[in-house]
Amino acid sequence: MEFDGRREVQKTLALIKPEAVAKGYEDAIMERIIDEGFTIVRWDKMHLSQEKVQLFYREHEGKSFFPTLIEYITSGPLIVLVLAKHNAVQAWRDLIGPTDVEMAKISFPRSLRALYGTSKTYNACHGSSDPEAARREVKFFYPNINTDPILTNSEANQYIRENLEQYLVDGLTKLAKEKPINPVDWLAHWILDNNPNRPRIEIEE
Ligand code: GDP
Ligand code: MG
Repeated sequence: MEFDGRREVQKTLALIKPEAVAKGYEDAIMERIIDEGFTIVRWDKMHLSQEKVQLFYREHEGKSFFPTLIEYITSGPLIVLVLAKHNAVQAWRDLIGPTDVEMAKISFPRSLRALYGTSKTYNACHGSSDPEAARREVKFFYPNINTDPILTNSEANQYIRENLEQYLVDGLTKLAKEKPINPVDWLAHWILDNNPNRPRIEIEE
C-alpha cells in the first residue's frame, strides 16, 4: 500500500548550530519547533569532533566552503534534535528556510534562518534534505532510533481492513461457534493452520 508523504509521520534530523547556541537562541528555536507542531523525539547538546563533522558533511568534501563549515560546526556546542511530524523532512526544511540567510530574510522572513542566522555559512540551523538523508542522519547520531515511517491510527485501520480483517473475522466466527476452553490457543492454532501464505507441498504418490 502506498502512503501519502503528507500524512505519514516522519522523523528528521535538526541541528541548532554552534553560533545560534552561543548567541542564546536555543530556547526560542525550541519553542518555535513545538509551536509548529513538531514532537521532539530526542535532543542533546554535543560538542562534535572534527572527524565526526567531516563524516556528517562528507557530501560537501572538496567544496570551497568545506574547511569553513567544519571549523564552524566544531567551534562550540550545538543541539542535535530528532523531530517527528507529518511530512517532517519537508516541514522542517520549510521552517528553517533557504541556506542563504539574505535570501531567507527577503523571501521567508519568519523562517528560522532569517530570524537567527547571519550569513550563508552561519545560518543557525541544519535540516535533512530528503527522507533518505533524514534516515541516515538520525542513525548517524542515534543508531537505535527506528526511522521507519509511523502510520496514523486511520492508516493502521485501513491496513488491517485491507489485509487482515476478513481472514480474522472468519477465524473468530469459527471460534465463537466452537467456544473452545482456551480461545487464544485455539485461535493461534487456527491462524497457523489457515495461514494463506503457507507453502503447500504437493507429495507425489
Ligand atoms: P543546507 O542543506 O541548506 O544546510 O545547505 P548545504 O547542504 O548546501 O550546505 C551545508 C552547509 O554548508 C550550509 O548550511 C552552510 O552552513 C554551509 N554552506 C553551504 N553553501 C555555502 C556556500 O556557498 N558558502 C559558504 N561559506 N557556506 C556554505
Ligand atoms: Mg544539505
